[in-house]
Amino acid sequence: MKSIWTQTTKIPGRNPLPGNKKTEVAVIGAGLFGILAAHYLKEQGKEVIVLETNRIGSGQSGYTTAKITSQHNLIYQKLVNTMGEKHAAAYAMANQQAIRDYEKLIDRYRIACHFEKKDAYLFSVNESEILRQEADCAARCGIPASFVRETELPFPVHGAVRFADQAQFHPLEFIEALSGDLTVYERTTVREVKGHEIITNRGVVKAAHIVFACHFPFVNIPGFYFLRMYQEKSYVMALGPVKELEGMYLGIDKNSYSFRSAGDTLLLGHGSHRTGKCPKKNPYEEMRRLREHFYPNTEEYGRWSAEDCMSVDSVPYIGHFSGVLADWYVATGFGKWGMTTSMAAARIVTAQIMGRRTPYDEVFTPQRFRPKAAASTFLSHAGYSAAGLMSGAMTKVPRCPHLGCRLVYNRMDGRYECPCHGSQFEQNGKICVGPAQESLPFIN
Ligand SMILES: Cc1cc2nc3c(=O)[nH]c(=O)nc-3n(C[C@H](O)[C@H](O)[C@H](O)COP(=O)(O)OP(=O)(O)OC[C@H]3O[C@@H](n4cnc5c(N)ncnc54)[C@H](O)[C@@H]3O)c2cc1C
Repeated sequence: MKSIWTQTTKIPGRNPLPGNKKTEVAVIGAGLFGILAAHYLKEQGKEVIVLETNRIGSGQSGYTTAKITSQHNLIYQKLVNTMGEKHAAAYAMANQQAIRDYEKLIDRYRIACHFEKKDAYLFSVNESEILRQEADCAARCGIPASFVRETELPFPVHGAVRFADQAQFHPLEFIEALSGDLTVYERTTVREVKGHEIITNRGVVKAAHIVFACHFPFVNIPGFYFLRMYQEKSYVMALGPVKELEGMYLGIDKNSYSFRSAGDTLLLGHGSHRTGKCPKKNPYEEMRRLREHFYPNTEEYGRWSAEDCMSVDSVPYIGHFSGVLADWYVATGFGKWGMTTSMAAARIVTAQIMGRRTPYDEVFTPQRFRPKAAASTFLSHAGYSAAGLMSGAMTKVPRCPHLGCRLVYNRMDGRYECPCHGSQFEQNGKICVGPAQESLPFIN
């Protein structure tokens, strides 16, 4: 599976870890968050190494739609209602600051990554009141948000929320440039972490500080992320040539679409579902229908899927990995907005390792307890996990090596997926996304 980002970038390969090593900071995972965290820590004078099981940028960061925005679907009313205006505003400001930080970094290092300022829109073809309320709420949280009636989309909308001065980029061009002077060891899989020791397939790394930047943490205890996180998958199609859109768009209606341009290529996004719970309608077929209707005479350039970790209260977990381990850090649960929040996460984790606090620590802390915000998602996640574990225990194969849930075959991708925590495997059993860390015995 190739995305337009992987098709148009070739990041030079790095050697595996050459044996045992000692360092100040070890970052596990060379996706966007891992590379940004390593960059800012190095800038602060820390000795940093990054350990990557596959290749730099080979994880979910290469399959995203790469909008850089604080517009994360209908989130601000929800955050105000469940955790209060102070935390909702801190969430908004962390993401607004992330956009400015991208701009500064790209400018400072003259990174050629197609970074463009664009407005972001949430639209509906059915209703407008909820969007009007979201615009008011987001504006109260400090975002330049307004309600509008018209967009440039090829169909009429009932209304839209516009966030001014957001951005988009080419994620792998950015990662390639930023990782250039970092010490990254590829094909180095972390198998276990014990205190300050990281056990890999290539040797043991001793580090004063350890940053888990591996998407879904594969260490189950402590942290217990498997109890409070699951994954959702979405599908993307690239088509063109299409006149470039001035804005970036996300529909809020059931079965709606996401739109953004990359030059005269249009990226459509569609078909979100819990990984392992495949939709009845094939999202690629649905996007083809939309293309035939609104974009006739265009070609399909590519299609792919990606998944992301969903926290139970819709806010990522950023900060100390666990209350009992002072020197482990994590950023996960990005809820499909980790292109943007990875930047906030890198700044927060860097500050914490340097012994400083940020105004955003409290809203993102993984040690939070917000029953009002988390209860219903937590219960449905527990239900899925219990069902997956039970059917895994009752059947022989295929089962997920992470915790033993029964795997489900996704015909759209030709992959086996775990409905409990979202691990994915190729048809031949090869692991492609964790938290599972091992491939399956041959399962066909
Ligand atoms: C369809 C879709 C569209 C999206 N669009 C947007 C968007 O427009 N804007 C936005 O802000 N966000 C978006 N996102 C979210 C964003 O893409 C993700 O949140 C982000 O890429 C996560 O980055 P990451 O660094 O945490 O993970 P990854 O990029 O997956 O990096 C993790 C790395 O860790 C490595 N790793 C794993 N286990 C180990 C181990 N044991 N040892 C060593 N290395 C290991 C992996 O190989 C991988 O390279 C989207 C998500 C999806 C699914």
